[in-house]
Amino acid sequence: MSGIRPTGFLHLGNYFGAIRNYIKMQDEFECYFMVADLHSLTTHPDTKELKNHVHRVLAENIACGLDPNKAAFYCQSHVHETTELYLYLNMLAYKGELEKTATFKDKVRLHPENVNAGLLTYPVLQAADIILHRAKYVPVGKDQEQHLEMARNYVNRFNHRYGEVFPEPQAFNYGGELVKVPSLDGTGKMSKSDNQMATLYLADEDDIIRKKVMKAKTDSGPTEANASKPDYIENIFLLLKLVAAPDTIEKFEADYNNCTIRYGDLKKQLAEDMVNFIAPIRSKVDAILNDKAYLKKVMEQGAEKANASAGATMKLVREAIGLNYF
Ligand code: ADP
Repeated sequence: MSGIRPTGFLHLGNYFGAIRNYIKMQDEFECYFMVADLHSLTTHPDTKELKNHVHRVLAENIACGLDPNKAAFYCQSHVHETTELYLYLNMLAYKGELEKTATFKDKVRLHPENVNAGLLTYPVLQAADIILHRAKYVPVGKDQEQHLEMARNYVNRFNHRYGEVFPEPQAFNYGGELVKVPSLDGTGKMSKSDNQMATLYLADEDDIIRKKVMKAKTDSGPTEANASKPDYIENIFLLLKLVAAPDTIEKFEADYNNCTIRYGDLKKQLAEDMVNFIAPIRSKVDAILNDKAYLKKVMEQGAEKANASAGATMKLVREAIGLNYF
C-alpha cells in the first residue's frame, strides 16, 4: 500500500522512491495504490487545481507502468472508512510525539500561517490508509521512514489494547535501502512544490531538462586522485546512476578518480540520459490525460476494490474495539 499527494507534477523522486517499486510489486503482491487527495488538503486548502492534479497523478502513474487491472488504484476520498479508522487511531496518537515529527516541524517552518490539526495528525491519517488494507509493505522514499515508524506504534498500541488485528507495516524498497533523490542544487530532496528549477518533473520538456541539469552546481574538479566527492558532485553521480548505462557511470567514476573529469561533459551526458528516460513517459501521460472516460473508469474500478478490502478490515476493527452492540 502506498500513496502520492495530488499537489503538483510528479518528479524523479516520486518515480525512484515510490512508483518504480509499485510497478514491480503489482506482479508479486495484492497492491493498493492511492491518490492522497485528503492529505493534500492539510497544506493545499485551495482546491482550484485539485481535479487537474488528481487526473495528472493517475495518468502519470499509469504512464510509468502502474496497471489498474493488477493493483487497486484509487482516490483516498472514495474510501470513507479511511476517516473512521483515522478517528480511532487519533485516540492512540499523542500530541507530544506528533509535534516532534520532522515533516510537521518542516511544514510549520515553511507555512506558519496554516498550522492546522490535520497537519499535526498527518501521520495518523497515513497510518489509517496503510492499515485499512492490513498492509505489510509500504513502498516509499526515505523521507517517509519516520511516518512508518509512527504507523507501527499505532498498530502496536491498537493490537495491545483491542487484540491482534493489524500486521506491522514496513517501508519497502526492492534495493533494500530506501531512496532519496537529491535536488539539482545540492540542497535537500526533489519535491513537487519546493524549488522547481532543482527538480526534474516527468512532464518536463527536453530543453527544460537540459537547462536544469546544466545549471547543477559543480566546481573546478578534484585535484588529487581518488578524492572523496563533495555532496553536490555526489548528487550528480547519484542521479547518473539512476538513468545511465553501467559503462557510462564507470567512465565518469574513473575520470573523477584520476582527475581528468570535465563536469560539462558529465552534465551533458546526464541531461541526455534524463531526456531519454523522461520523454517517453511524458508523451504517454499526454495521451492518457486526454481520455477522461478511461480515467473515470480506473477510479471507479479502484474504489470498488479498495472499498471491499476496507469494509472487511473495519468489520474486524469495530468488533475488536467493541462497537458491535448486539
Ligand atoms: P512530494 O514530497 O513531492 O510532495 P509526496 O509527499 O506525495 O511527494 O510523496 C510521494 C512518494 O514519493 C512518497 O513515497 C515519497 O517518499 C516519495 N518521494 C518524494 N520525494 C522523493 C525524493 N526526492 N526521493 C525519494 N522519494 C521521494
